[in-house]
Formats: sequence, structure tokens, C-alpha cells
Amino acid sequence: FSTLRLILGDQLNAQHSWFNDDKDDVLYVLAEIRQETDYVAHHIQKVCGFFAAMENFANALKKAYFHVLHLTLDDTQDDASLPDLLARLCSAYQCRRLQYQRPDEYRLATQLGDMETKSVDIECVESEHFLLPYDDLTQYFRPNQHLTMEHFYRQMRKRFNVLMNGDTPVGEQWNFDAKNRAKLKKKDLAEIPEPLLFETDISRINDRVARHKVPTIGKLDEHFIWPVTRAQAKQLLSYFCEHLLPNFGRFQDAMTANTPHRWSLYHSRLSFALNTKMLHPKQVIDTALSAYEQSNGVIDVAQIEGFVRQILGWREYVRGVYWVNMPDYKHYNTLNAKRALPGYFWNGKTRMRCLEHAIDQSLATAYAHHIQRLMVTGNFCLITGINPDEVDEWYLGIYIDALEWVELPNTRDMTQFSDNGIIATKPYAAGGNYINKMSDYCTGCHYNVKEKTTEQACPLNSLYWNFLNRHRKRLENNPRIGMVYRNWDKQSLETRDATLARAKWCLDNIEAL
Ligand code: FAD
Repeated sequence: FSTLRLILGDQLNAQHSWFNDDKDDVLYVLAEIRQETDYVAHHIQKVCGFFAAMENFANALKKAYFHVLHLTLDDTQDDASLPDLLARLCSAYQCRRLQYQRPDEYRLATQLGDMETKSVDIECVESEHFLLPYDDLTQYFRPNQHLTMEHFYRQMRKRFNVLMNGDTPVGEQWNFDAKNRAKLKKKDLAEIPEPLLFETDISRINDRVARHKVPTIGKLDEHFIWPVTRAQAKQLLSYFCEHLLPNFGRFQDAMTANTPHRWSLYHSRLSFALNTKMLHPKQVIDTALSAYEQSNGVIDVAQIEGFVRQILGWREYVRGVYWVNMPDYKHYNTLNAKRALPGYFWNGKTRMRCLEHAIDQSLATAYAHHIQRLMVTGNFCLITGINPDEVDEWYLGIYIDALEWVELPNTRDMTQFSDNGIIATKPYAAGGNYINKMSDYCTGCHYNVKEKTTEQACPLNSLYWNFLNRHRKRLENNPRIGMVYRNWDKQSLETRDATLARAKWCLDNIEAL
């Protein structure tokens, strides 16, 4: 073969222009490799999901008469790194050219960019996945500079002509966020459709992962529920458009512990299919738009706009923020947070019902929806001052969709405010009140959400005030938060002291909460 082409586990894009080229002289390689399983302790479903999707992609290419080398952990156990493996393959197959698609993660982009192979030309090509081309990112993003998501999103709506009537947004409004805040009432719970779960047998892969003693977290049931083929990914997209999109925006921020079989609520669960590139974001947006247009009003504009905002807005936006700010971005810790992540993040054993539910669900399914990630686990880490390195590691490991380019901006930046606000204009800090407003977690919790200073008081309440008090100098002049300090100052000295004392107790006994 004259050319070796590397396909990474998150580059399963069947529409890539590579596959329009002549097949004969090109060898494609997909490889399971310890470098990728071991850089963090991943959820077992994440490792198996990536490996299964890679194998299926390799088989689909073979069926279309491409030359494909699919290597398992057995085949690569002596390769210390990806460059070592590629050098070995180039030599074994006498390739003169090595091509790879631009990695989305800085770690891999640097490693492959630094690679040198004697007498082999190395070329990086675009992954052809995102709507915004990589080279255009610097037109919108500058290092260390805040750009509001909303501003970027409106530019994307215009640039790609999505939900536009000429120059004006469909529905005469850019953003229907205010309509995305409904709580789930009792009568709503029974109406939530069950999630579409696949039942793929991946025991062979799981056995291989176990045999190689890959360190993993979380649980894996007999059947694998996530899409691992393009056909399954498309099925999940259709299911979303038909059953979930009609209420997507409405209940986007809602949380409940009372629907164990409908744990993903109205969320799409498409992130794994998107991040592995089995689905293209344009394909997802176009499919959702055509469902909206054909729905005779069943899907209203607030629902479709809410969904488009996530993909065309947030997803493209965090990628831009990531690339212009790396590599420093990974080390920011403006709030000087140093505490270790409590043990219950790995087993769910806490009496705080909100955390228990979000963590248990994450361990069981490798998934939590956005508000669970942001306002339950994320908020807890923020107001208790957990070291952002540990927070990043947990998020990067536990979620099936976690890849650094999308995890890091959401975690270190949006939830932990570690960069002083490149994304968020204020920390997303909250007490128990917010959780109680948006969920049913507080009913039946060991702690009392209405109390702040007693032994029974919800820890989030005192921890919230303690967080604000600790960072007063930094936050007080922030116009989005200044008001809160006036509320704090209005409380009696006695109440403030008791609140801070309760927070101190919670922090000193964080493992016991
Ligand atoms: P839906 O609610 O159905 O949304 C549709 C799609 O929009 C998602 O599939 C995703 O592709 C995109 N999207 C929505 N919100 C965001 C966002 N904030 N950033 C980027 N894309 C978004 N998403 C990941 O894909 N990988 C991660 O590792 C990841 N880590 C996160 C960590 C934290 C602390 C937080 C607060 C959010 C994180 N997110 C991450 C964003 C978001 O929570 C997930 O994309 C979403 O929960 C995936 O579930 P879904 O497909 O059902 O999403």
C-alpha cells in the first residue's frame, strides 16, 4: 500500500471525502490501544462503546471493499504509543504516506503533529465533521477572551441559514430559553416516553477489556444500550424527533428521581453518536428541522430552537473556546480550589439525594443530562472547592460522550469557573433552593432543603453562602452577582456566623455528607 490512513475511535465518519477516493492503494487502520484506554479511568460502557463502534465501522468499510486493518488490544499490546504503532505499520506495509484526520483533542493533535517517521510523508486532513471549519475558529474566538455563546450562536444561525426568515429569526425571537424552565409535575412524569435502548451483545469486547486488565469504572449490563452502528445512531435520531423533540425545550432543565425507566427524560442521548462522528451535526439539525416543519405544530418553535441552540450553538462554541485556549486552559484554577473529590463520586453513597441520584445514574448508564452535570455534581464541586484537575478527570472518565474538547470547557470553565469566566459571566453556584425548584430530589432526602444552619440542613445551603463569602473580593463587583451580597449582608450577624459554621462542618466532614 502506498498510503496508510489512520481513523481514530472518534472519527467514524462514513461521509468523509476519503471514502470517495480510489481504494486499491490505501490501507485504513482502526486500532484499540492502551494509550487511549489508560489516560484516565473510563466508564466500562465508554470503552466498550468506542471499541464496538470502531469494529462495526471497520466491518462496514470492508463490506464496501476498502482495505482495512482492525487491530484489537491483543494486536497492539506491544505498542507503547500510537506513533509507535503507526511507525511499525508503515514499515510492515511499506507505506510512503501516512494520513490522519485532524484530532479534536489537543493531546492527540500534538502527539500526531510531533510524529516523525523516516521516509514517510505525514499529512493531516480535516475531519469534515463540524459546521464551522477549523481554520475559521480564530475569526470568532480569541484566547482568554469572553465571547457570549448567544452572540456566537446568532452568527451561526445567519451563517448557516438555520431557522431564519431572511435576516430575522423564525418566531421573531432568537432564543426561547425562558420557555425551557418547566418543572416536571406529577402528571407529566407518566407521559415521558421510555428511552430507546439497544440490546447489543458486546460480551466479546468486554471480555477482552477485562483480560487486558484495563482499569474502568461504572457498570455494564448484559446488553449494551448505546448506538454502535450508523443505522442505530440514525434510529436514535428518528426516535428523538418523533417522541422527544415535541417537549425537548420545555423540560430541558427539569430533573426527577421518580422515573427510573425514563432516566434521560426528553434529552436526545445523541452525544455519543455525534462525538464518535457516526452522526454529522448538520444531519442532526436538518432531520430535526424537517420533523418540526412536518409536525403540524406538534413541535413548536421553542422546542426546535432549544435543540438547534445546543448543537449549532453550544457544541460548536465549546470547541472554539477549547482550541483557542489550549494548552493553558487545562491548568487554570483561578479560584484556587484544592479539595479532593469525595469518595461517593465513585459509588454514589451519599445522603444528599440529588447527588446520589445523579452519580448512581452516571455509574449505571455512563450518562447524566446537562442539568444534572451542571447544577448537581458540577455545582457541588464548585461550592465545595474541589480541585478542577480531579473534577475534569471524573467527568472525562464517567460519561460515554466525554472527549476533552467538549468536556473541559463545560467542566473547568462553565461549572468550576476556573478561568474567571471565558464562557460563564458568573459562577453557576446554587443552594438547595434551585435543586428544589427544578426537581423532586428534595422530597425524601435525608436533609431539609428549607434549613440552613441546623444539623439536618441541606449542606448546599450553607456551602453556597460560604462559597460566595470566600470569593467576595473577586465576585462582589460582578453586576450579575452583586445583588446576592446585599442579601447576605442583610442577614443578622448571628445567622451569618451560624451559616458559615455549618458550612465549615460540612467541609470538614465532606466524606460523611
Ligand atoms: P441533549 O440535551 O439532547 O442535547 C443535544 C446535543 O446538544 C447533545 O448531544 C450535545 O451534542 C449538544 N450539547 C448540549 N449542551 C452542550 C454543551 N454544553 N456543550 C457541548 N455540546 C452540548 N457533552 C459532551 O458531549 N461531552 C462531554 O464530555 C460533556 N461534559 C460535560 C460536563 C459538564 C460539567 C457539563 C455541564 C456538560 C457537559 N456536556 C458534555 C454537555 C452536555 O451536558 C451533554 O452534551 C449532554 O448532556 C449530552 O446528552 P444528550 O445527547 O442527551 O443532550
